[in-house]
Amino acid sequence: MKYKYLFGPVPSRRLGISLGIDLIPLKTCNFNCIYCECGDGAPLYNERKEYIEADEVLKELKEYLSKNSKPEYITFSGSGEPTLNSRIGYLIQEIKKLTDVKICVITNSTNLVNKNMREELRNADLVMPSLNAVLEKSFLKINRPNVNIKLSEIIEGIRKFGDEFQGEIYLEIFMIDEINDSKEELEEFVKILKTIKFTKVQLNSLDRPAPVSWESPMAMEKLETIKNYFKENGIETEIIKKYKSKNEYKAYTEDNEKLITNLLCVRPSTFEDIKEATGLDREILGNYLDIMVKEGIIKTLMEERGIFYTYRNR
Ligand code: SF4
Repeated sequence: MKYKYLFGPVPSRRLGISLGIDLIPLKTCNFNCIYCECGDGAPLYNERKEYIEADEVLKELKEYLSKNSKPEYITFSGSGEPTLNSRIGYLIQEIKKLTDVKICVITNSTNLVNKNMREELRNADLVMPSLNAVLEKSFLKINRPNVNIKLSEIIEGIRKFGDEFQGEIYLEIFMIDEINDSKEELEEFVKILKTIKFTKVQLNSLDRPAPVSWESPMAMEKLETIKNYFKENGIETEIIKKYKSKNEYKAYTEDNEKLITNLLCVRPSTFEDIKEATGLDREILGNYLDIMVKEGIIKTLMEERGIFYTYRNR
């Protein structure tokens, strides 16, 4: 059966085998991050509502769990900000009644300032909030938020959530070269992170050029330096490692590689075009493109519409 709201299961470095739930239509988000792969320039949404019917999602999940082996995590993420769906709390509660699989929520943290929202996430096992900047200028540059969103409220929300939540919190910082890696910003990060309770900080970065700004990916040495700086200041930090080769990514198949190269031999395509044409899940496709670029099978081109992937010999 083809599922509308479930994706995967996806082999993930951070979560093992994770079954994704997408609770909102493509690029329903109150941010428009410069590294977002869900498309650029879509209108910003900041209203919480039932974008996708919760009971329909539950129906699919029940069907999935009755026919497949258990994933390690059921993860709310996907093509926008999942906490904008006003029924996420209800869904977490109902999923807990259905299965003992752990629940993870990946969020951009904007709604954590809302007490009801924090309450809705109470039954999740793991929450991964992101905090990509602590200085206003980098926040605006990286996240390009809806006008009603304030950085101070995001920080306050994460802090309150850390105080109240009983599960694990992996706080993600997406590092962008020359934007949020200044001495001033890192010092401010340390000051703020010392006031927040979390399990660990995870440093993420793009392996590919950023879709909007054509920023170059951050070098591993720089990420290591930042990790060490945080650690020296008592902040438990790790770098999210990316798949580097086909051998490393156990789910890699020649069939999927061919699916992608056949398309790119005919025409250069964006991430969304490839996703649409191949039907591959967002995270899986991201892993394939990362590996295929690293192995020189395909290359990237910057065009007016954003980043295009093309076959190396085209
Ligand atoms: S928060 Fe996520 S979905 Fe929203 S713009 Fe940023 S990367 Fe895209």
